[in-house]
Amino acid sequence: MYRHHLLFCFAVLTFLLPSSASAEWYQEQQDVMGTVISVEIWHANFAVAQQCKRQVFDEMHRIDALMSPYKTGSELYRLNKWAADYPVRVGDELFSLIERAQQISELSDGAFDITFASVGHMYNYRRQIHPSEEEIKAKLAAIDYHHIILNPENRTVHFSRPGVTIDLGGIAKGYAVDNSIEILARCGATNALVSAGGDSRILGDKGGRPWMMGIQHPRKREEVALVLPLSDTAISTSGDYERYFIDKGERHHHIISPRSGKSISTTISATVIGPDATTTDALSTTIFVLGSTGGVELVETLPGFDAIIIDSRGQVHYSSGLQTPGNSEEAQEPKKD
Ligand code: ADP
Ligand code: MG
Repeated sequence: MYRHHLLFCFAVLTFLLPSSASAEWYQEQQDVMGTVISVEIWHANFAVAQQCKRQVFDEMHRIDALMSPYKTGSELYRLNKWAADYPVRVGDELFSLIERAQQISELSDGAFDITFASVGHMYNYRRQIHPSEEEIKAKLAAIDYHHIILNPENRTVHFSRPGVTIDLGGIAKGYAVDNSIEILARCGATNALVSAGGDSRILGDKGGRPWMMGIQHPRKREEVALVLPLSDTAISTSGDYERYFIDKGERHHHIISPRSGKSISTTISATVIGPDATTTDALSTTIFVLGSTGGVELVETLPGFDAIIIDSRGQVHYSSGLQTPGNSEEAQEPKKD
């Protein structure tokens, strides 16, 4: 009996204490929220790694079901439908993320604005539909984050006028990535990488070396424009090549100027590096809208954040925390021992 007890303890201990000698990388990709979700986890236990990956994909589906503006059963759908009529009570999570979005709007003087969707939802990139000048003009006044009235006591969201629609597409994926990294850390992983389209977060590193994170070339699908060695950080890229179509020589893509209701044409790629993916996601969209000068200026005011912006002429702009490739071999190649 006593012996069995000891054996049981031993079995539990080996399960709980990962022996790094037998740890391995486990990788899986799935399509969720209209993008490719990729999970890589370094773990000593195969079964635990499988279960944790599953939890990450479940979490992605859960957030999608809650925050998709198109799914009729989502909390966000219900909010958009009723918030102009009366203050709509929402869950903690949705309320907090809207609050976070509002902070980024304040910070950027409205370059990031989740009410962009008041006009933005008239675009359909798959079917190559964009609103006419008249349609934009009729709806443009509904874009203004000040129209969102938040009441933290009752956790209600109210729109101050009709025609306001919100969309969390510029921040929700980063939030899902942060939650996923938390799940993996709770699983005992010390090294992991989660990506949701252009938003990634790295826990630890890749076997004692940084991950070499590529920023996609905005005009050559199969190429990377830059490679950055990164560990224990988040990185988000927003690009005009993600969802777009060209009509009469004009590129209509998914990042919208809240001032004009049209796609931004001065930036083609914007990357932000920082401690959490919720913020890097929102900020990559923000600095895409602000452009190279305003975007870099904003990031310089935020300790711990850096940015790389490619403007419409193909010129690359860096914040001061990053070395320019001209004088940095390290930014291009992994370090050799
Ligand atoms: P993705 O990773 O999907 O390319 P991005 O981080 O680049 O996402 O953000 C683009 C998304 O942000 C759009 O699909 C839209 O949902 C939302 N968005 C577009 N323009 C704005 C804006 N000015 N402010 C806030 N969100 C925006
Ligand atoms: Mg973003």
